[in-house]
Amino acid sequence: MRDQPSSEVLLEWYDHHARKMPWRVGPKDRANGVIPDPYRIWLSEIMLQQTTVAAVKDYFERFTKRWPTVRDLADAQDEDVMAEWAGLGYYARARNLLKCARVVANEKGGVFPDTVDALLELPGVGPYTAGAVSAIAFDKSSVVVDGNVERVMARLYDVHTPLPAAKPELTALAESLTPLERAGDYAQAVMDLGATICTPRNPACGICPWRPACQARLAGTAVDLPKKTPKKPKPIRFGVVYITRRVDGALLLERRPDKGLLGGMLGWPGSEWVEKEAPKHQAPIRAEWKTLNGEARHTFTHFHLRLTVKTALVPMEREPAVGHFLPLEDFSPTDIPTVMRKAFNLFHSD
Ligand code: SF4
Repeated sequence: MRDQPSSEVLLEWYDHHARKMPWRVGPKDRANGVIPDPYRIWLSEIMLQQTTVAAVKDYFERFTKRWPTVRDLADAQDEDVMAEWAGLGYYARARNLLKCARVVANEKGGVFPDTVDALLELPGVGPYTAGAVSAIAFDKSSVVVDGNVERVMARLYDVHTPLPAAKPELTALAESLTPLERAGDYAQAVMDLGATICTPRNPACGICPWRPACQARLAGTAVDLPKKTPKKPKPIRFGVVYITRRVDGALLLERRPDKGLLGGMLGWPGSEWVEKEAPKHQAPIRAEWKTLNGEARHTFTHFHLRLTVKTALVPMEREPAVGHFLPLEDFSPTDIPTVMRKAFNLFHSD
């Protein structure tokens, strides 16, 4: 009879191979009674949505140093949080992060709820994050399914239905393996397995604790799984941004409206972004504009963006129609989103 995958086998592997992360309580400390801080678990999970562990670590350290508790974060100025978030992308997450911190601080007495249903009511918390916080922070037996878990389940059970149609089946399989005891460690163990051993291109089956039970390994199909329905190619959008320098070095910046892409972030004023040549628009200030060679290119979830960058030098008394001049000493490229930073780099290298 073929071996069945079991959570015990994976937990034993995790006890020896758990990755170290700034927000994680490792299996040894956990066994000795150290309890994870739900605020840190929640914060890390929001940051990790669409972003790698390596990219998140520094942001997490800075956030928790500056705002050590959910109440501290709830009291923060919106602009400060958006500036700290700059570069992490998917800025709606940062706005929801603040909303969520304020709900927890003001309506929940500063205490995160521990069930999936209650967590799902918080702003910016979807099924994955609710499951992860409930399992990791509170050790509830909640099912946690991200891309890593989907890949591991598809391989373990040799599921050939393409994603996203396979999601319910893979979730049910993940649920069937989730243990009642040590659910938090188990959730992190599957994620670690997916990130370090059962990787997308080169699964290291030879050192995998689930090797004897893995159906895709036996069938020789592991590298082909999970199957995915092909995506449509992303459209290209075009736009113009204006980098205006005043003679004292100050730079003209504009805070984007709260709603929409890069909402609430500082950036260079400019046109809308559309799927043909940049639309008609007004420059943010009267000036002699020079168009820089090259484009600032950036890829968002649903489209590629190509920005033409225009620049000008203006006298002290010239008033902008939009935005405000920021003294050079108060400007840091790390406070603006990556796409705006790319435009600034083009300007800087000109
Ligand atoms: S045996 Fe290979 S394919 Fe199967 S779960 Fe382990 S690493 Fe993944």
